[in-house]
Amino acid sequence: MSIKTEEQELVCAVCGEKSSQTVILECEPDRSVPDLDMRPGEPHRSYIKYWVSKCPHCGYCNASIEIPVLFTKEYLQSGSYNKYDDSLSGSFMKMSLVCEKNKVYDEALKACLYAAWAYDDEENDEKAVECRRAAVKIFDSHRAYFSEKPDILLLLADIMRRSGSFERVVSEYGKRFMGSGLMTAIAAYEAELAGKKDSSCHKADEAPGVSVK
Ligand SMILES: [Zn+2]
Repeated sequence: MSIKTEEQELVCAVCGEKSSQTVILECEPDRSVPDLDMRPGEPHRSYIKYWVSKCPHCGYCNASIEIPVLFTKEYLQSGSYNKYDDSLSGSFMKMSLVCEKNKVYDEALKACLYAAWAYDDEENDEKAVECRRAAVKIFDSHRAYFSEKPDILLLLADIMRRSGSFERVVSEYGKRFMGSGLMTAIAAYEAELAGKKDSSCHKADEAPGVSVK
């Protein structure tokens, strides 16, 4: 047992309707070496599908449909919300829009990244790049919010490299102190990979001087 889930009747915070949702009750700690963007290895890698819930009545997508929102349910009928489909990636992109509306910008950024991971698994590189660029856009739109979040700043280096923004990674991370030796080493490695125009996935412990265990 690495994960224990349960079906629960939850009330949607947007429309007030009840629906059956899969809820994680317990999860063993992740002991895998993550990718540079902190994507866990198996078995946790497969649990991504439990990270987003959708209300079947109004289409509200979030980590839980019980999370209150700062908008009315009409927003969920808008074209900008419904340009994404009901796939796992589409649900994460909707969750990203919801989190941005709720002003929880780090969750909005990460939801784009999770959407990209789902597209990575489908080997849909074009869509994965689109989602990573959406994550960068959230960062650029809310810079003040992210200024005190070095973990997100580091994550962004990988998101930008994986979506081809090599020059920006080299110029912004090449010689930057990130607040700790470990984070600085990873940032320097991201800049090194970007300098080689390498947009592929790498493990965190490939960075020189970084030991995950
Ligand atoms: Zn609902």
